[in-house]
Amino acid sequence: LTTADVIEEHRICVCVRTRPLNKKEVATKELDVITIPSKDVVMVHEPKQKVDLTRYLENQTFRFDYAFDSASTNEMVYRFTARPLVETIFERGMATCFAYGQTGSGKTHTMGGDFSGKNQDCTKGIYALAAGDVFLMLRKPNYKKLDLQVFSTFFEIYSGKVFDLLNRKAKLRVLEDGKQQVQVVGLQEKEVKCTEDVLKLIELGNGCRTSGQTSANAHSSRSHAVFQIILRRRGKLHGKFSLIDLAGNERGADTSSADRQTRLEGAEINKSLLALKECIRALGRNKPHTPFRASKLTQVLRDSFIGENSRTCMIATVSPGMASCENTLNTLRYQTVAMHT
Ligand code: ADP
Ligand code: MG
Repeated sequence: LTTADVIEEHRICVCVRTRPLNKKEVATKELDVITIPSKDVVMVHEPKQKVDLTRYLENQTFRFDYAFDSASTNEMVYRFTARPLVETIFERGMATCFAYGQTGSGKTHTMGGDFSGKNQDCTKGIYALAAGDVFLMLRKPNYKKLDLQVFSTFFEIYSGKVFDLLNRKAKLRVLEDGKQQVQVVGLQEKEVKCTEDVLKLIELGNGCRTSGQTSANAHSSRSHAVFQIILRRRGKLHGKFSLIDLAGNERGADTSSADRQTRLEGAEINKSLLALKECIRALGRNKPHTPFRASKLTQVLRDSFIGENSRTCMIATVSPGMASCENTLNTLRYQTVAMHT
């Protein structure tokens, strides 16, 4: 069964990706506690100690639709996760792809890509790879005759508020009408004609995300970033792909923090990730009462979850180091809930 088949059958596919140990982890000789014995199994080897102080490894096994090892590339991850969803939006559907995991595990690398190197060794992420395929699909005779236009939005949700990353971080209001249609008022939709256009928007938005903050990563790890690819036909919505780089899911330290702002942010992130879990659980079951309003994140994405024509993929990213073990297990447990049963 391919992940495309899984998505067709269950409307959701659930994957995990581990990254290589980074320089710092290698320098401190950190143990890699993750193995991927087959393409849908992840094992975590958690070091434990008995009362008599003898050490042993407790092995825990998780099964997902696909497990990507540390040698996998963004292209590979993309091909088995978001790629089948490009078709969905051409067929008038709504698609979402989430990256979920602790800060430093590779969410942004996977979704937005890496622009830190020189231009020529920029690593494309799922935003740009999906956009690239959208432009290819537009040329197919069946879709060409529809005369579709492509637009992008890029915004972040920080402490329950929405900011437009393509419009100097303007703070936006979210309105819900009587028919539960949700609208982000004034959100900029920029027309894009090629992958180059999309890469420019990603860089513009990324720059916006970090400006004015003391620490770039400290800020981005506390906000959800949403990049959308929107297809319109004569101005009317045809399909929409929302790609979400979620806030870091590690929250233990926040709850005891002396800093009020930090505690509030942490609580807000917990709330939104819990709401997301509930909405995803409801996805395949057509439950009437899904708690979309429980957080800004799920409220804004509401229209992408409901309806027969919505499809989702979840990519959990994990850090392989022993120090990350507890966060890794939490991530994998959350991801297990998202698995269709
Ligand atoms: P997150 O967004 O989850 O906080 P990042 O995507 O910023 O994490 O990744 C943290 C660091 O690890 C970055 O320097 C990134 O380039 C690197 N990294 C993440 N995933 C990979 C990978 N699969 N291969 C190589 N480097 C990676
Ligand atoms: Mg990040």
